[in-house]
Amino acid sequence: MLERMETGEHLNQENQDDLKERVEATLYKLRELRKRVAELKCKCEEFREMEVQRFENLKNTLRCDKCKHKLDPEDEVIIKDANGEERSHYHRECFQELFK
Ligand SMILES: [Zn+2]
Repeated sequence: MLERMETGEHLNQENQDDLKERVEATLYKLRELRKRVAELKCKCEEFREMEVQRFENLKNTLRCDKCKHKLDPEDEVIIKDANGEERSHYHRECFQELFK
């Protein structure tokens, strides 16, 4: 009887240790996940800022250099310099106007 109780207590202790280990492992995983989420949030924020910047650039560049109105990519003439950098943007019509 006494032996059985001891064995029982021993098992219980083992179970508790096992449980404790599993809880600790889970908490560790949770902490890692939280770190990962924080990193991703940071990356998302960077990415969002890049997108905003890109949009700002687009908004600024996509204007016709002759009439100063917004350009439609379908109706756009891009003038590049010798280095291949985009220098001017025109509507097709405005571009043709330049040579009249
Ligand atoms: Zn134009």
